[in-house]
Amino acid sequence: MTPGAPFIVRKDDHLFIDQWRAKRIAEHVGTPCFVYSKAALEHAWHQYADALAGTPHLICYAVKANSNLAILNLFARLGAGFDIVSGGELARVLAAGGKADRVVFSGVGKTEGEMRAALYAGIKCFNIESPSELERLDRVAGEMGKVAPISVRVNPDVDAKTHAHISTGKKENKFGIGYDMAPDVYRRARDLANIRITGIDAHIGSQVLDVEPLYACMRRLLDLVDRLASEGIHLHHISNGGGLGVQYRQGETSPDIPAYVTRLMAMLDGRKLELLLEPGRSLVGNAGVLLSTVEVLKIAGEKRFCVVDAAMNDLARPAIYGAWHDIVNAGPDTAPVRDWDVVGPVCESTDKLGEGRPLGISEGDMVAILSAGAYGMTMSSNYNTRPRAVEVLIDGDDAHIIRKREVIADLFKDELIPGQG
Ligand SMILES: *Cc1c(COP(=O)(O)O)cnc(C)c1O
Repeated sequence: MTPGAPFIVRKDDHLFIDQWRAKRIAEHVGTPCFVYSKAALEHAWHQYADALAGTPHLICYAVKANSNLAILNLFARLGAGFDIVSGGELARVLAAGGKADRVVFSGVGKTEGEMRAALYAGIKCFNIESPSELERLDRVAGEMGKVAPISVRVNPDVDAKTHAHISTGKKENKFGIGYDMAPDVYRRARDLANIRITGIDAHIGSQVLDVEPLYACMRRLLDLVDRLASEGIHLHHISNGGGLGVQYRQGETSPDIPAYVTRLMAMLDGRKLELLLEPGRSLVGNAGVLLSTVEVLKIAGEKRFCVVDAAMNDLARPAIYGAWHDIVNAGPDTAPVRDWDVVGPVCESTDKLGEGRPLGISEGDMVAILSAGAYGMTMSSNYNTRPRAVEVLIDGDDAHIIRKREVIADLFKDELIPGQG
């Protein structure tokens, strides 16, 4: 089964996103093109939401995974909260119809401007990542005549056993407040006039496939909750962050979301805490693909290069993390299957989407890079003055363009030549 099944499947020699042939979509909008399945997004949402029903909870979708307004709007209508990491993401959430009082704000370097915008909007809470951020927030809130709700993002010193670049919960990482330091930060927060303590949170990393570290994290947080309660500091919510992994390769199994959520609920063990989760990748990753046209097939010594019109500027994960994405022919095989290095046209040797991939393709065919719904478009750039790809959302019989392909002239419209104009 393809990653993304049953919403994204190959049948009758074609890749389908819901009932749409990938090739038909690309005929309308061209390539490179991100395509998302609304049914797959809703399915992933319900994996969390249905299991959490009956417990006070809030699913705060991590906006950075895929921040297109249409996707934020979809989750907002399903009742989502949002985990943001910048003032820009706050503006997006509000523009998409998200509710400020369901927003939690993470990040190690919130600026005063971002704090003001979030206080003005009235967010649910600031996830505090350093003692000095706490002092600064107290001052900014005081200047505005507001009280800032806070959670302390604790660094639980748990190894998420994921890629080093996306691991965030070890004590040497820049994220969160050291576990042993956290009680002091809460005591200080209690004494600050413009701060109101509401919760505790952690996020140990991303693309976590072994959930044991996530349970270890929850246990560490609950120990702190109990210790703080014994000092009279009572918390309203607990967030175990995001991090659940998705399937990037055929045969790989991703964590069972309902089982994970159910176990977290059991760990609460009667404590009166609202349970927050901050899933990003696991809500959108398998719901999207990147379609790309084969421009040139090139044989260089032992190597066979399949040069496609998508590149590291469209999907950075393989270049940055050495990440794997399954790549399939979007249509019928037109040539004997051979192993190809699928590369983009960008002038970097790291511009490789996949190495040694068995594909029966010819020039002009279309391939699909699977599981591209998370950290695809949001990490894209205009490197090599390449316009960003178009984004399409499939909703039953309808295919909606949710972001137009960028226009080349727009890419340099804000640039100025001194002395001209
Ligand atoms: C990125 C991030 C998430 C989401 O992580 P996923 O692995 O995409 O689920 C959640 N919480 C915080 C604080 C984050 O920075």
